[in-house]
Amino acid sequence: MPYNNYGPLSTTQYSLSMSPYIEFRLCTVQHDRNQTISITMRSTDTIADLKEKITNRLSIPTSQHFSLEVFDTNTFRWIPINDTVSFYTLNGLHLYHGDILNIKWARQPTTTTLRSLYPSSYTETDYLTFYLCRKPFDQYDYTILTISSASTIGKLRRKAYEKLNRPHESQSLFLYYHDTWMKFESDMDDGVLEDSPFRSRMYISVDHDDGGSYRRILTKGLCGLVNLANTCYMNSVFQCLSNIPEFTKKMLELTDESNAPITNYYKKLLEKLWSGQYRSFDPSSLVTNLKVKLPRYDNYRQQDAQEFMNYFLNLMQAELSPNNTLITDYFYGKIQSKVTCLECKNVESTNEPISFLPIAVSNCNQKSILYVKTNGEYHTVSVKIDASIRTIADLITCFLQQYEPSLTPNHILAAKLVDNRFITRYNDMKYLSDVQEEEIALLQCPGKTKDQKLILCEFVERSSEKQFRPPTVLVVPTLNCNYHDISDQLDDLLGHLCSITDALPSTCQLSWLDWNEQYYILDDRSRRLDLKSVRIGMPVGDVELYRVHNHIHNSADQSALKSLIADFFREEPLDSAYHCHKCSQSTKARQKSSLYLPLPQVLIIQLKRFTFDANSSEKIDTFISFPLNELDLSEYTVEDNNSKEKTNSTAKYNLVAVCNHIGSLMAGHYTTYAKNQGDNQWYLFNDTNVTKVNNEKEIVTKNAYILVYVRAN
Ligand SMILES: [Zn+2]
Repeated sequence: MPYNNYGPLSTTQYSLSMSPYIEFRLCTVQHDRNQTISITMRSTDTIADLKEKITNRLSIPTSQHFSLEVFDTNTFRWIPINDTVSFYTLNGLHLYHGDILNIKWARQPTTTTLRSLYPSSYTETDYLTFYLCRKPFDQYDYTILTISSASTIGKLRRKAYEKLNRPHESQSLFLYYHDTWMKFESDMDDGVLEDSPFRSRMYISVDHDDGGSYRRILTKGLCGLVNLANTCYMNSVFQCLSNIPEFTKKMLELTDESNAPITNYYKKLLEKLWSGQYRSFDPSSLVTNLKVKLPRYDNYRQQDAQEFMNYFLNLMQAELSPNNTLITDYFYGKIQSKVTCLECKNVESTNEPISFLPIAVSNCNQKSILYVKTNGEYHTVSVKIDASIRTIADLITCFLQQYEPSLTPNHILAAKLVDNRFITRYNDMKYLSDVQEEEIALLQCPGKTKDQKLILCEFVERSSEKQFRPPTVLVVPTLNCNYHDISDQLDDLLGHLCSITDALPSTCQLSWLDWNEQYYILDDRSRRLDLKSVRIGMPVGDVELYRVHNHIHNSADQSALKSLIADFFREEPLDSAYHCHKCSQSTKARQKSSLYLPLPQVLIIQLKRFTFDANSSEKIDTFISFPLNELDLSEYTVEDNNSKEKTNSTAKYNLVAVCNHIGSLMAGHYTTYAKNQGDNQWYLFNDTNVTKVNNEKEIVTKNAYILVYVRAN
């Protein structure tokens, strides 16, 4: 990390001026997403403008009617675009940069050029796609239902029942139309959908007749925000901040401050978001006033969300009365930077407030490798490798540099493990391209003399004899080995197993295998061991405990984020010359950063995916895994001797929100994943749309740009 490359406003040298244009891809072969041409529009253009542009571009006769479909990457379906209201904007129709469009002819074109565009004859009937609420009126949790537009309302009702596995009696069909639920009783069953208000991408629901007073089930906080011409970066930031439970609570408790217009507008917005009254809300009053206060945002360009978040928080803090430290209390931490002069070893320490952690992301590849220590501990490490790393020996060298600088390659054995079983040792010159990443384990080896040899210690569950964890390496005398030669090493391993499971060492059974594959009980009476390997057997209950512990313990540590954070805090030589005050000259120096305790309540992590320099700028799409729970920063902290506060608080953080950037540097779109504090479920906030995330794994994507973590209690 370059010296001083952090601080609350250090990213302000650049502005992410994104284009107001959105580029669609239009299929040139029916529904073939790989064969497309580009159509560029403004996001404020209407659907009529888009169709006109396509008409001109492809010289479609005006008599040739068509509609458009868009490919929905969430459901992998083609969804008809509603063009009945010609003045709907592309923005309002949720059409985004990169969307793939397909032409749907009203009837087969007569001109040959157009027929060659979509040669297959188009006999398919029109289909309508509905969002069917899984629970009555719950628009956050829906399933897709597709039906022919020539079907009757009765058929739609029956299909909805089937899809939801509901009994058919006495449930009415509801359509969400112009912000209310419209009820369709069975006497309307004969109506044809295309002659009724039913249009694609509308919400439908079925429920028991409730006498006409239709409940609106809205979960507090699940309120979308209207995109006011490229303001999705603001919307995403508002949703990230809104879902920080304690901060939002404090904001809502704030008494109106006289000279804090932006803070008051933000508070008013939060009141709407958490009222449970709105499905979506127009944040114009806050946005308009923000643009006055922050003129750099007074345009229709796409902007950098992280930079905006910083400006927004700083602006609110500046507005509040001097004794109100609401923002600094939640978002600001203090970072210590220690520079050590390599000449005189003098250490100079400086402090700086930080409101976010800028984490460098590279195009560099990472390999997830299992590392097993001689003391029994094991975990997956991310080894960063570049194109020059080609063999097992190269990988071992890289691993040692990054994780075990005090060891030499003699201390590492690269093994192929399958289901924890040792299969073979990899030759140093073996190419990594010939090896599957998940089959490489690096086993730490004890140092050995020429009279010693290395053997494996395996760990089995006693009844099934299955190995429940990777083996470790022991060192034994080549000749005349007896129990006492290995008892210390075994005690270490038993200590490791028993400290995790709380089992007594006596519950573990020790045995050894000779070269005839015969097993013998191993104890202090064992003499003259012709050892091939050693086995430790544990009862099934303890094995379960051990597995559970290791799963929890390992899952948080494996993330690529964790290793990038380690890089951020790692001591590194300064690139530029350092002026040492003690030596009074330019010297070489090393620099190391640490976080002061207590850590900030809210930890904002920016994955620096946008790089800018004089010659080029790019977005880095590397996938960075990050933990949803228990991100532990304890190893990067230092006590602050000047602080009066008690620092017995935890250094573990849980994720509450992710700001995603989708698309390219020049044109993109922001969304937010956030965990609702009411029901503890994750939701995707995409401007006015809020949808439930059914699998938490969906949250970790290559689009993640800002991570919002809250310190665990
Ligand atoms: Zn010096």
